[in-house]
Amino acid sequence: MTEKAKFEKVASSLHSDGRRNYVQPADVKGRFATSRKGIFALLIGIYVLLPWVQIGGHPAVFLDIAARRFYLFGATFNAQDTFLLFFLLSGIGFALFVATAVFGRVWCGYACPQTVFLEGVFRRIERWIEGPRAKRIRRNAGPMNFDKFWRKTLKHIAFFLMSTTVAHIFISYFVSLPGLWKMMQESPLNNISAFLWVFILTGIMYFNFAWFREQMCVIICPYGRLQSVMTDLDTIIIGYDEGRGEPRGKKSDPDAGDCVDCGRCTAVCPTGIDIRNGLQLDCIGCAACVDACDEIMVKLKRKPGLVRYDSQHGLRGERKKFWRPRLALYGFLAAVGLVVAFFFGLQSHEEFEANLLRLGGTPYLVEDDGRIQNLFEIHVVNKKSKSHTYEIKPSTDDGLEYVIAIPNPTLKGGQGMRVPMFIYSSPSNTVDSIHLDVSQDDSDTVHKVSAPFLRPR
Ligand code: SF4
Ligand code: SF4
Repeated sequence: MTEKAKFEKVASSLHSDGRRNYVQPADVKGRFATSRKGIFALLIGIYVLLPWVQIGGHPAVFLDIAARRFYLFGATFNAQDTFLLFFLLSGIGFALFVATAVFGRVWCGYACPQTVFLEGVFRRIERWIEGPRAKRIRRNAGPMNFDKFWRKTLKHIAFFLMSTTVAHIFISYFVSLPGLWKMMQESPLNNISAFLWVFILTGIMYFNFAWFREQMCVIICPYGRLQSVMTDLDTIIIGYDEGRGEPRGKKSDPDAGDCVDCGRCTAVCPTGIDIRNGLQLDCIGCAACVDACDEIMVKLKRKPGLVRYDSQHGLRGERKKFWRPRLALYGFLAAVGLVVAFFFGLQSHEEFEANLLRLGGTPYLVEDDGRIQNLFEIHVVNKKSKSHTYEIKPSTDDGLEYVIAIPNPTLKGGQGMRVPMFIYSSPSNTVDSIHLDVSQDDSDTVHKVSAPFLRPR
């Protein structure tokens, strides 16, 4: 018995001796493959371009964890808005439950970052460098030679560079693009935590996309495990029409079903499973097997759809129904999370934000005439969509001289502005803190901000 025969495959990615069964999916063409390519390109484009899009003076999505401020499409949230995030994430989570209950693992097959980057970027690079499935399998099984060496080396260099790029883009969502660019020009020691994050993320992505791959979906991802409790017999899944396909046999066999046992559906599967074995946890709903089998059916002049999107009831030829109690429940919870709770959360959200910041450098300056100067910046953010004018003024007459660069800034919706401010005190004044009121033209809300006034002791 050969070594190969001794160790049968026991799972899609595992042999019985624990060795990895490295899946080499074949290329596939078809309507779902084309749709997926379009969706991958769109999602990757959004991921790459979003940090460049500015709304109201900030990136469209900027999770400024250092300042505990989050900018999302013109709205500004801070650490006190965590409950909104909770409702938003809960709503999105339940909306995903609805999508899963209706369409099965549509998220996994079309929109999960793991699939988008693996299928849309890394596997494409692999195909460009190492060629189609048959060549890859043959080369991998063969001895190391110059051809194998340069292709593998080039592929891993490309994978590493791509992982680094994706990691840098990811970090830019937390530090902004100008922040990232500034960090890249400095020593890593000046921004050690950001540097470590990029380093770790690059390592994780390289490991995942170069080697771990489908095992992330099959072994690690909890969503894949949960799908069995979210789906039922009326969920649209990808399935094999057993009644039509069995018994398998040659085209010329009059007693055989439509499946000619060509194995094409298994060859294209990125998790290495055979869809004809029924609904499996390892199926990520990518529809590659649908395109593959349709191609065969067209060639055989048979009706496509032997492997297709359908419910388990549909595949068995039984009556299908759309509305089920679970759908109503998930839909209700998603609506509560997304619409009701988030809507009321936004209603109570602040109209604008004002923060007083001391500028870096010398804490105070003593002028030639003995006056003491402190330098501040007041950061005003319009959190609504319309333009507003703000008034910045001292709360009380404390005897200090306030020189505010723009005392009445007008800000567009979502815009923020940092207004510099010089504050002078006579040597005899002993006031040790400053207090300012910031108000908005059409609102009664007044934000009171204060900071210590520093002077020689
Ligand atoms: S591609 Fe279609 S015909 Fe070929 S093995 Fe799969 S189900 Fe059967
Ligand atoms: S069985 Fe079909 S749909 Fe499921 S992962 Fe494999 S190719 Fe994709």
